[in-house]
Amino acid sequence: MSGSGLRDRYARLRAEVDEAARKAGREPGSIAVVAVTKTQPVAALREAFDAGITDVGENYVQEAVAKFADLKETRLRKHFIGHVQTNKARALVDAFDLVQSVDRLDAARALARAAAARGKRLPVLLQVNVSPAERFGCPPAAAEALADAVRGEQSLELEGLMAIGPQTSDRGEVARAFDLARSLGEAIGARTLSFGMSADWREAVAAGSTMLRVGTSLFGPRPRKAELAATSKT
Ligand SMILES: *Cc1c(COP(=O)(O)O)cnc(C)c1O
Repeated sequence: MSGSGLRDRYARLRAEVDEAARKAGREPGSIAVVAVTKTQPVAALREAFDAGITDVGENYVQEAVAKFADLKETRLRKHFIGHVQTNKARALVDAFDLVQSVDRLDAARALARAAAARGKRLPVLLQVNVSPAERFGCPPAAAEALADAVRGEQSLELEGLMAIGPQTSDRGEVARAFDLARSLGEAIGARTLSFGMSADWREAVAAGSTMLRVGTSLFGPRPRKAELAATSKT
C-alpha cells in the first residue's frame, strides 16, 4: 500500500468503527484508534500525523527511540505495546507516554522506579492473557492482585487493561476472549479497554473495547526484517 492512501484508509476505518459503535449502541467518540507503526519507517509516522492520527503504538524500544528522535515536530501520543523488559524501563519511561503491556510485578516495579527517578507519573495498562496461544500477559486469575500492586506505586497510574485476541477464524472464540477481557477490566476498574486489532476490531467494539490497536489495515503488510535492513542502508 502506498503511503499517500493512508488518509483515506484511516478515514474509512474511522467511519467503519463509528458505524460498528452505533450498531452496538455505543458512542463513536468513546473508541480511540492507536495506529501501530512497528517495523514501519519514520515516514509512516509522519504520514499518520498528517492524516490526523493522534496515537501511535510501537513494540520495540530501540526501533521506537530511533524513530521518535526524528519526529520531534509531531504531537503524537506514544504507546508502548511490546514486551516490557526490566532493563529497558528507563528508555521506556523517557520515550513513551503510556505503557500498555505491564504483565507482571517486576515489570511494574522497574517502570515505577524509572518513572520516579524522572519525577514522572506514567500511565499504564495491565496486559492480561485471554488466549492460550499468547506468550505474554498476566493470567486472568492474577489480574486483580497485579492491579492492586500497580495502584500501590505512586509513580504509576493504572488506566486500564490491554489484551490480544486469539489468532483464529472462530469468531465465537474471539468474542469470548474479549468478553473475558472486558469483565477483567471491570473487576480492576479500568477506564481504558485496549483490545481489537486489524483482524478482530469488530468483535472488540461489540465487547466494549475503548481503544483499538490497528497496524496492517492502515499501513498494509509490515516490511520484513530483511527488507527493513536493506532500506536503512540507503
Ligand atoms: C502488531 C500489533 C498490533 C497491530 O496488529 P495488526 O494486525 O497489524 O493490526 C496490535 N497490538 C499489538 C500488541 C501488536 O503487537
